[in-house]
Amino acid sequence: MAEGKRFNVAIIGGGFAGMTLALALSNEGIPCTIYELRGPNYMRLPGGVALTGNGLSALDHIGALDCIKDKGFAFSELAYTNEADELVGRTSLAKPEFAYQPTRILRKVCIAEWRALLEEKGVPIRYFSRFGGVVSSPGGAVTFRINDEIHSASILVGADGIHSTLRSYVCPSASLEYLGLLGLPDRRIALVARQVVYAEQDRAGWKALAEDKDTLYTLLAKDYGSSNEILRSFLDAADVHRDALFIWPFYKAEAAEWVSRQTGRVVLIGDAAHALPPSSGQGVNMALEDSYTLGRILGLVARGGAGADVDLKAQLCRWEGYRRDRVDRVMKWVNFIESTTASSEQARETKYHFDERATQETLDEKSESFGWIFTPPFGEEFERWLKEEQ
Ligand SMILES: Cc1cc2nc3c(=O)[nH]c(=O)nc-3n(C[C@H](O)[C@H](O)[C@H](O)COP(=O)(O)OP(=O)(O)OC[C@H]3O[C@@H](n4cnc5c(N)ncnc54)[C@H](O)[C@@H]3O)c2cc1C
Repeated sequence: MAEGKRFNVAIIGGGFAGMTLALALSNEGIPCTIYELRGPNYMRLPGGVALTGNGLSALDHIGALDCIKDKGFAFSELAYTNEADELVGRTSLAKPEFAYQPTRILRKVCIAEWRALLEEKGVPIRYFSRFGGVVSSPGGAVTFRINDEIHSASILVGADGIHSTLRSYVCPSASLEYLGLLGLPDRRIALVARQVVYAEQDRAGWKALAEDKDTLYTLLAKDYGSSNEILRSFLDAADVHRDALFIWPFYKAEAAEWVSRQTGRVVLIGDAAHALPPSSGQGVNMALEDSYTLGRILGLVARGGAGADVDLKAQLCRWEGYRRDRVDRVMKWVNFIESTTASSEQARETKYHFDERATQETLDEKSESFGWIFTPPFGEEFERWLKEEQ
């Protein structure tokens, strides 16, 4: 990248990570294009998503919060009950000192609003564009395949989700790990789902299960007799609308490297870099943090005209280290939460690290200190970190 020259970014994937990165980059005056596999009307994941203070703060800094903030509904804690309907734990997600109130919102609302913002800012989304691999990385650029054509950009970002194609280019050793649990959400409702222990299937097996609505309902309703009244009413409604049931096998993925050490120009964000276990409720929120922070560091590089390739690579690796510290901490927290809330069957048969099984007292005590996850991490400390080692 020549000194002072502007660069452009190609983003693979138009999910939450890809869209918000594009908005963050356009704030920094960096041109970018999103290449999205699906068409504009495709909705892979219906239902809702929980945005916590940290993700909301990232959105606020990106300028993508105002358009959605009154379109969800606020909540403040997670409560865990057992089969006997007894409260066994709670995690507070909002406190008076938190600047943002967690919000549950429909995905389609966020997608529609952010696409409108992208259009306003003139960021193109190329639909029906399948990323097919990196072709080469001549000095100052990366060339890659989209459908049958070769494209080029100064930086290529993989925001292509948990089954990322780019992940194997950046980090060939990375793998997906099935956690032994299957989620059973209901398309019609943003909030209700249950998780059951289930053996891993291959792609065809998951597809067949997803289409077998009677089996899904049987799994969903397996504790009908011992369920409380609220759950029964949900199960009765799900029985009438079995077609609305879908599956969510719980996988996690961790790539040891998020920035290609070979080129220093290919970067992973969101689930492509670190698909957190679903029970964290942090997949989207961590993706939003990635987008904001990557946008800022690329803005810094662009403005500083960090000319030599080594500067860009060094800054991206610095960003990776900064983000990894936080994501690793969240991963440990998820293990702790799972160890305290899973049923004994789940504890025996799943791949969370249950060695830290905690008592109710330790859960109460530790939930007090969980604020660090939801507290917006983008204050003075982040600004100081950003300006270090320029
Ligand atoms: C049922 C369910 C509920 C969830 N609830 C929450 C929640 O409440 N809170 C939370 O924080 N997280 C939640 N998550 C996790 C969250 O959805 C993910 O962490 C988040 O979507 C990751 O965003 P992403 O942009 O990295 O990936 P994705 O949203 O998966 O987006 C990836 C995009 O890349 C595209 N793509 C893939 N391959 C290619 C290719 N080869 N070429 C071009 N494009 C490609 C895909 O079509 C997709 O649009 C939930 C997940 C599920 C399944």
